[in-house]
Amino acid sequence: MKTPSKIAIVTGGGSGIGLAIAEKFVQAGIHTIIVGRDQGKLDAAKEKLGELCEPFPCDLTDLTAIPKLVNNIIQKHGQIDVLVNNAGINMKKEFIEVTDEDFQRIIMTNVTAVFALSREVVKCMLEKGVKGSIINISSMASQYGIPKVIAYTASKSAIEGMTRAMATELSPKGIRVNCIAPGFIATDMSAKALNSDPERKAKAMGRTPMGEMGRPSDIGDAAVFLASDGAKYITGVILPVDGGNSIGF
Ligand code: NDP
Repeated sequence: MKTPSKIAIVTGGGSGIGLAIAEKFVQAGIHTIIVGRDQGKLDAAKEKLGELCEPFPCDLTDLTAIPKLVNNIIQKHGQIDVLVNNAGINMKKEFIEVTDEDFQRIIMTNVTAVFALSREVVKCMLEKGVKGSIINISSMASQYGIPKVIAYTASKSAIEGMTRAMATELSPKGIRVNCIAPGFIATDMSAKALNSDPERKAKAMGRTPMGEMGRPSDIGDAAVFLASDGAKYITGVILPVDGGNSIGF
């Protein structure tokens, strides 16, 4: 087997967009560690993607597990070149029905865990002098207002601000930080939000100039580019991959 060019972590790499990113990374010869809670999903992804894909099960909301996770990866592989903070959860509920616990649950997964994992990975990148790439995943919910997703919107707006803050602080040290803002991409998550609400789906497609949902692989292609040396002068960018949804009329 050829020595892999880079070592990457893709959180939520067992399904949907994360699985598509992992698949594109593997095709690019990157050794790809996929992280998620569901061992069965991770094993199925490994089965599909082969030798360059390696599952590391972890619940990222268990913040104490994160340094251990990163330490185990470093013990085994020596360094981490790319981190994709893709794992995320959504919740569609009327504003006044969202409880404090609901709100905190979304923020914990979509923001706090992203911060904690990024911090641990950045420590290792700096220690090893790696020219790293971190890719965060936001959403159309932080480009314009969408009803009934208050916590999710707060979390994805935080991700975009964190991307800029991290990019300014870490780029001088050789670590690029960028963010992909997916439009409406066909996965289980979007099916849950849209399939029971045809009006919402029609509205989303009505303002998408390309007129259809994106595929998870569309996000995978953008992630491969941002992780590559072809993007070596790109940092702090929020890249919509959305068929034009964010600028649609
Ligand atoms: P999925 O629900 O298919 O995937 C989410 C992934 O996150 C799962 O693999 C899940 O794995 C993982 N995950 C969730 N919680 C945790 C946790 N606590 N610890 C570890 N892993 C976790 O959703 P998508 O693929 O659609 O979404 C991926 C990302 O893209 C999310 O950040 C989402 O917000 C974003 N996005 C999606 C859009 C879309 O249209 N689909 C649009 C815009 C943004 P497991 O269950 O094994 O823990």
